[in-house]
Amino acid sequence: MSAVEIGRVDLDDDWMDSGACGGLTHLFFPPPAERPQARQRREGAARRVCGECHVNVDCVDLARRHHEYGFWGGESEDERHAAGFRLIAPIGVRARSVG
Ligand code: SF4
Repeated sequence: MSAVEIGRVDLDDDWMDSGACGGLTHLFFPPPAERPQARQRREGAARRVCGECHVNVDCVDLARRHHEYGFWGGESEDERHAAGFRLIAPIGVRARSVG
């Protein structure tokens, strides 16, 4: 079993190789200046991929513990933020502050 050291935390990341999202990075992280409707569509597609993924539990746990940006484990930045795993500027908050 391998581990990646991030700061002082050892992270077991073997499960990442088994994720259903390989090659689909464009669904999980927003392009610059993404519009809310496009974000909804992109995150809907990402959610469907995560729904078929058998490492979902490990994934959402990592994203929550490390306050990751992007869509992880079937959960958006906004959802993670609302669940108490705070991000400095989740994408929905950023989008609502513009315009
Ligand atoms: S749960 Fe979603 S983001 Fe996480 S590894 Fe699986 S497909 Fe990728």
